[in-house]
Amino acid sequence: MQDLVREVMDPRLVELLGIWRKAFYPRETIEDPERLFDRHIDHLLVIDIDGDKSRYVHYGRAFTERFGTDLTGVVIDLLPSEILPAERRGMLAFEYTYARRVRRPLWRSYTAEFADGKTETWQRLVLPAGKGRLVVGAYAVDVSAPARRPEGMAAGVALLRLLIERVPVVVDARGSIQELALSLEAFSDTRQQMAELEEWATLDALTGVANLRHFHHLAGLELDHAYRMGRSVSVLALDIDHFKRINDNWGHATGDEALKAFAIACRKALREPDILGRVGGEEFAVALPNTRTDEAQMIAERLRRQVEAVSVPLSQGGAVSFTVSIGVATSMPPARTRAQRPNIRTLLALADAALYRSKAGGRNCVNVAADDDFAALPQAAPV
Ligand code: GH3
Ligand code: MG
Ligand code: MG
Repeated sequence: MQDLVREVMDPRLVELLGIWRKAFYPRETIEDPERLFDRHIDHLLVIDIDGDKSRYVHYGRAFTERFGTDLTGVVIDLLPSEILPAERRGMLAFEYTYARRVRRPLWRSYTAEFADGKTETWQRLVLPAGKGRLVVGAYAVDVSAPARRPEGMAAGVALLRLLIERVPVVVDARGSIQELALSLEAFSDTRQQMAELEEWATLDALTGVANLRHFHHLAGLELDHAYRMGRSVSVLALDIDHFKRINDNWGHATGDEALKAFAIACRKALREPDILGRVGGEEFAVALPNTRTDEAQMIAERLRRQVEAVSVPLSQGGAVSFTVSIGVATSMPPARTRAQRPNIRTLLALADAALYRSKAGGRNCVNVAADDDFAALPQAAPV
């Protein structure tokens, strides 16, 4: 079995395991992982428990380059969904908890399609380092290489590769497999449950669009990306007009139906990558990736008209209609310096200022943030 592991485990991980074994076993704690594993530093993650959260205290350059984001200091629960889709998130949390508990290494691989459309397989080794710390090493491996190994071993190699794609396995200090961290059945259940949990935590329960926290998170990522790519992101602030009247006249349940119908109408007017979030009771926001002000204004108009056409049927007969006021703000007007690049909060504040003018101007209309709005903000927070 040990031979088979050595055939499949990436040699760099084999080396990592050897260094870990020598350092961990005498004292069950690794004080200075960055120094100990310095040869692997770019492919290393160091994770510390910080209160009840796990945080990346070191995030290797190889991951920053591959995923396009430096996650040093980021709490693992809050990882961008582009980097870690829901179904993988549960598995990651499981691996980290398990490795800490059993104080033994966990080994697995995952194959993912990256943003550039390339599919890659990465092998990971999660190493307990004591005191609530974990060290993870990960390398991209070439699984297409033709097998040059003795007859009979090739099938074992293929099977083991398949296994570590499905479940994390516990290896002992010498690199032989001790047990599976999960049964295959439990694994499929965990995936399902975690995906459901993820959905609850990020979506607004009434309308099913992103909640406030998730909206800020997604829109913030989009904005970071846009700054790197030299593109602009536009933000819409939306507030339903005289919404209180709907509640007052037809009851809260009708108000709820109106909010649901509103979210559906918004989605219809938006494009696939546009991010829609509920940021308050009857207040919503949209982030429009790669969109200039004039395009954003057109989209906002389309959305405004779509909402005008909504009608919520009443149980007693008849229907309720309503309108929306919108403010538009766009990132990166070319004249602004880097330090003045608005972050997502600032952009939303700008869009809100424009929204205020839409309200003051009679509602059911669209206004665009002006330079005056920018100057009037308390300060432009840097990115
Ligand atoms: P304006 O045009 O100035 O925006 O007027 P408005 O009535 O929309 O604004 P106001 O802020 O006075 O009222 C918002 C109302 O939205 C008050 C609140 O009860 C209602 N609301 C907030 N969240 C919900 C919800 O989840 N369901 C329902 N039915 N109503 C909600
Ligand atoms: Mg409001
Ligand atoms: Mg309102």
